[in-house]
Order: sequence, then C-alpha cells, then structure tokens
Amino acid sequence: MAEAQTLMDKIVNLTKRRGFIFPSAELYGGYGGFWDWGPLGLKLKNNIKNAWWRDFVLAWQDVVGLDGSIITNPKVWEASGHVANFVDSLVECLACHRRFKADDIDAVCPVCGGKLSPARTFNTMFTTNVGPVLETANEAYLRPETAQSIFVNYDNVRQTMRLKLPFGIAQIGKAFRNEITPGNFIFRSREFEQMELEYFVLPETSDEYFSELVDRCYNWFIQLGIHPDHLRKYPYPSGELAHYSRATTDIQFAFPIEKGWSELMGVANRTDYDLRQHGKAAKGDEQAFATPVGDDSSKKVVPYVIEPSMGVDRAALAFLLDAYEEIEGGRTTTTESVKETEIVLRLNKNLAPYQAAVLPLSKKPQLVKTAEEITRTLRQHWSTDYDETSSIGKRYRRQDEIGTPFCITVDFDTFEGGKRPAGTVTVRDRDSMAQENIAIPELVDYLRAKLA
Ligand code: ATP
Repeated sequence: MAEAQTLMDKIVNLTKRRGFIFPSAELYGGYGGFWDWGPLGLKLKNNIKNAWWRDFVLAWQDVVGLDGSIITNPKVWEASGHVANFVDSLVECLACHRRFKADDIDAVCPVCGGKLSPARTFNTMFTTNVGPVLETANEAYLRPETAQSIFVNYDNVRQTMRLKLPFGIAQIGKAFRNEITPGNFIFRSREFEQMELEYFVLPETSDEYFSELVDRCYNWFIQLGIHPDHLRKYPYPSGELAHYSRATTDIQFAFPIEKGWSELMGVANRTDYDLRQHGKAAKGDEQAFATPVGDDSSKKVVPYVIEPSMGVDRAALAFLLDAYEEIEGGRTTTTESVKETEIVLRLNKNLAPYQAAVLPLSKKPQLVKTAEEITRTLRQHWSTDYDETSSIGKRYRRQDEIGTPFCITVDFDTFEGGKRPAGTVTVRDRDSMAQENIAIPELVDYLRAKLA
C-alpha cells in the first residue's frame, strides 16, 4: 500500500475522477454520510456482491437467499433489542458545539480543546412514518441490519424450502444507521449495504461452524487479493462480547485511518437469542422456533446461529486501498515507456469494473470495425470497455488506473501482418505490461483461462 496519511485522499480523488464514487447530491454540497456510486463503482460493488453470493450461498451447503423489506413491523426491532440497545453515546463540545461519539474521544474536544457535555444516549436507527398521518403511533424504522428479516422469516423459509439443520439464509441489502460521526470516506456512512449469512446449526456444533466461517471469511479476502499483512482476526475477549454472543471475531483491515486496524466485518455466534426473542415476543413461546433434528420430529431444538456480517462498501474500500499502487517515474518495458508517475489499480481481475478493454490503434474504419466486432464478442462474456480516443499510451494509463486487467489492441498488423502474423491482436497485461499476440478466434479462450 502507498503511504498511510494520504492514501485515503488518493482513493477519494481517484474514485471521483474515474466515476466510481461521488458525494451524494454533490451539486447541492453533498450530504454527510451518504454517497452515490457511479458507473465503475457500481460494477465493482456488483462484482463483490456476486463473488460473495457465489462463495457463501451457491457454494456452501444448504444456503438459500432472502430479500426482506427495508421497513417492517416495528415490533421486530423491539423484540430484537434494537429499540432499547441500538444506541451510541453522544457528547457535545460546549465551546464549538461539535458532536462526537463518546467512545471515540478523551476528556476534551478533539477540534478546539473545549469542555465536553455529559454523555447522553442516542438511538442510531432512522425513523420514518408509515401512512399519511405523522404521529408516533405509525412511526417505523429503516432497518439498521439485514439480519432480523432473516430471523422473522425463519419458519417461512425452513418450511417452504424443506430445510434441515444445518442450513443458512443469506441476504444482501441496504442498511441505515444515523451515525453520529460518519467519515473516513465510505468506511462509516449512514446508508450502506450488508451481506449477511445466518447459518443455523445444532447448538453443540456451533463452535465448530463458528471457526469454519471465520476462516472462510478471512480466506475469502485473501483469495480476492487482500495482502495477508493487511488483514487479521480479532477475537473479542469474553468481557467485550455483546449480550447475545457466545463468541465474536472481527476480520480487521489495516485501514489508513486514525484508528488503524478496524473492523472490516464480523463473525458472531449469536446463539439462539434472536429466535427465542421473536418466539417470545410474537408467539409467547421461547420454544416457538424449535426445529426437528434430522428426520426425528420428536426431537427438536432451537438452533444456534453463526452470522458472518459484512459491509459491501467497507469491503469495496479495502479492495480499492489494497489495490492502489503509484509507480514513481512510471514503468518501462520493451513495448512501453512511461515517464510520469503511474497509477495502477491492481484489483483482482474479476472484481475490476472491466475485465477487458478493446483499443483500436487509430480511428481508421478498418480498425474500428474489427475492434467493435471483438468488443461485441467479449461483452457476451465479460464487462468490456471500448475506447478509441487519444493516444494509445494515454488509453493504457486510463485502463491501468481503473484496474482493467487486459487491454486488447487492434492495429495494422492485425490486417497486414508485419511484426506479428495477420489475424492477431495484442493482449496487454495490466500488471506486467507484457504483450502477447493472440489470434482473434482464440481470444475468448485465452481470456477465459486468464480470468479463471
Ligand atoms: P463499527 O464497530 O465499525 O461501528 P459494527 O460493529 O457496528 O461496526 P456490525 O453491526 O457488526 O458493525 O455490522 C456489520 C458490518 O457492517 C460491519 O463489519 C461493517 O462492514 C458494516 N457496517 C456497519 N456499520 C457501517 C457503517 N456505518 N458504514 C459502512 N459499513 C458499516
């Protein structure tokens, strides 16, 4: 990674300049804690979500998906404990009136050194009103996590999908928290997305599944390119566990923020707390969600649940930070020489917004026609950019900056032969800048092997 103090600013600049992430409603001065994802950021985010869905839902035994509503019956949040406990402690500087999360600061205002007010609690759930009349009776909440809609649909999903323990229900969706101090770019926002898996298991197997899921989450980030030196597991000491948790381990990333190592995601053994709470509140019976063990319907348990909970935005930030490299003085190979400082975004090839870019050397109709044909073919398989503007060097730099792993160049040799046989294009590798000559009909197979 590049130098810690300024790396975040560089990512903020790059992602804005290249169409990944914009301040929400920038036209009106932005809006604290909210961000708009531009075309390339959206592709990155979708690729992250697809990779997670593939690896934690499709590839994992007996996991099904759910898409719960963002606003739901407020009784859910009473039973889950969010109405009473989803609070932050807030202090206000008596001199400059800035507000801070009490956990984050010491005795005085970190901005002006003024005295602080006594701490008061503040529920971080956003409220809204359902129906046309604004009154407390119809107050509702924007969900602060996706997990609860899984718990309240536990029996619906189990029965309709004929699932037996162990099994999981996964969800990707928006969550909202009225954070006192949003900041550090998209690390802490007020609207973000979560990818959560609730994996229901027999209580006596929960420790085993917990360790397995912690390892799977850690390895997932490593496989997708996070450097092992920037990732670590943080098991919570028993005194710091939430009241429902038997064990929690955060996967932390070395974010270049004041606090340094910070939570990228968490894995918790939430025991049977949530199902019992909803059983009690909705049905007056803590055992309401007791589930048959195997085929023996006379033996029933309220399962424990292992929950890997991950923020999509925070994961995107970690991937961007870890992928960013600045090469002072540029790079020189046998085919290219870059003199100025070059930025290369070494994103995992399948997470990158585009897997390939097709670049005709000039705007001559013959080159453009073939380049467009190749683009159409590649677009059936991968996200593919097409660019015929400016010099080829500038176009390579742009693709390096947005992380495109392969640039395909159509030039005159493609038609007439010369340094290369006719009928070939060059494929340039983002990381090594090495160029290979590939026959056009072999391009799809070549890229498929490289992107496997
Ligand atoms: P933190 O301690 O950083 O506030 P948390 O412990 O409250 O996080 P969880 O409730 O465990 O977070 O949420 C699960 C995941 O959701 C987090 O690991 C993070 O990736 C993401 N997340 C939580 N709050 C935010 C936020 N305000 N902005 C962006 N992502 C968030």
